[in-house]
Amino acid sequence: MENSGGHVVVLTYPAQGHINPLLQFAKCLASKGLKATFATTPYTAKFIAAKGVQVMPISDGFDNGGFRDAPNVADYLESFKTVGSRTLTELILKLNQSSDSPVNCLVYDSLLPWAVDVAKKLDIFSVVLLTNSASVCSLYWQIHRGFLPFPVEKDKVPLAIPGLPPLGFDELPSFLAFPSHNSAYLESIMRVFARLDENDWVFANSFEDLEYELAKALTGLWPVQMVGPMVPSAYVEGPIAGDSDYGGSLWKPSDHYLKWLDEKAPKSVVFVSFGSMADVEIKQIEEIACGLKGSNHHFLWVIKDSEQEKLLTEFLQSNDEMGFGKIVKWCNQLEVLAQKSVGCFMTHCGWNSTLEAVSLGVPMVALPQWSDQPTNAKFIESVWRVGVRARRDEKMIVTREEIERCVREVMVGEKSDEIRINASKMREQAKRAVCNGGSSDIAINNFVEVLIKGKG
Ligand code: UDP
Repeated sequence: MENSGGHVVVLTYPAQGHINPLLQFAKCLASKGLKATFATTPYTAKFIAAKGVQVMPISDGFDNGGFRDAPNVADYLESFKTVGSRTLTELILKLNQSSDSPVNCLVYDSLLPWAVDVAKKLDIFSVVLLTNSASVCSLYWQIHRGFLPFPVEKDKVPLAIPGLPPLGFDELPSFLAFPSHNSAYLESIMRVFARLDENDWVFANSFEDLEYELAKALTGLWPVQMVGPMVPSAYVEGPIAGDSDYGGSLWKPSDHYLKWLDEKAPKSVVFVSFGSMADVEIKQIEEIACGLKGSNHHFLWVIKDSEQEKLLTEFLQSNDEMGFGKIVKWCNQLEVLAQKSVGCFMTHCGWNSTLEAVSLGVPMVALPQWSDQPTNAKFIESVWRVGVRARRDEKMIVTREEIERCVREVMVGEKSDEIRINASKMREQAKRAVCNGGSSDIAINNFVEVLIKGKG
């Protein structure tokens, strides 16, 4: 569609789980007639190419390696705030000089709360896109408002929270459970919720049917609108023509896994992936490998770490099982989830992975690691009932027996039929949300309409 006025800059945190939804949103806005510029760090910009979206680098202060070069998370976030505020402002001013449609809106990632100040200073619309589930975000918001104790201590659970199931200690976002870790991330997140009302729009990468109870419980209380799932159109029958890929993979997918999957029987393979950030211990990897073998199902496993890959390759060789399991360093996860041979997804429950599985109707075995993942796992098992959660033992390990039990349960167990039916239903709901006239589509159209009219 031709740009009819309205230019939006979309700013992402430079990690895979943030680039994907933010870029997808930028593509969606471009397809609806806005000019869209995607702002990201120089070392990620080179991986991104998406139809209708121009990609522009802004510095975070670590132009070669990004957060891996920073001494720690707190220093990285502080550097991105200081350097990024300046470089983002410069970028927008430069775009205004060179483009016939000046920037009138900044959409920013919820890990970058300082961006609201840039939008205010330049007097353009400010929009935050929440990259966690709306339910998880509601917890942060309630803490900010003083409605929930923080940090949560073990004897204070289960927590009864409007719109959410009762949450046990190991079902809370890891940042909230005492003693909490990675407080720099939490501080950044809390800043967003402290200033939520200063934005012109607050969007979440979710859809109304998925978090219906929450939307109902908080109607009129908080300003969040759901505009997801941010998944390429080809997978959810969404409206963007020819959209079959996010367009910004930071790693090159390995070869041959699609052919391998294609040769397997329908719903016979367990796909195992723990996203782009989780660091799974070697001991845990061993337990998962043995559990998968015990379950007697084929598996395709994404392992980025070379030590872990070595261990797994040795494991497969020593068991003469190379045809049984396959290891890849990286894959196109959506393409894999869409394969007929994939029967279940063993996942760390990152929000994008969760939404992708929901959107494609794939049952899950949940192995949450940190951050929002324990809460997502709770929803997978107890609210949407599209999978089961593998539980840790007293040594905090998920044993091979537990892995085997969960895989069997989801693939062939008593609950497997019900889980599959629920997963298929959720897929239909996801498609309904993004199709023409769906709840997310309407929310985005209303937003685009205002942007095209302009501010003031
Ligand atoms: N992903 C992928 N290939 C892989 C593993 C992951 O394309 O081999 C993508 C996946 O589709 C998802 C993102 O990386 O969109 C991971 O985001 P998520 O929120 O699930 O987890 P994070 O990496 O942020 O922990």
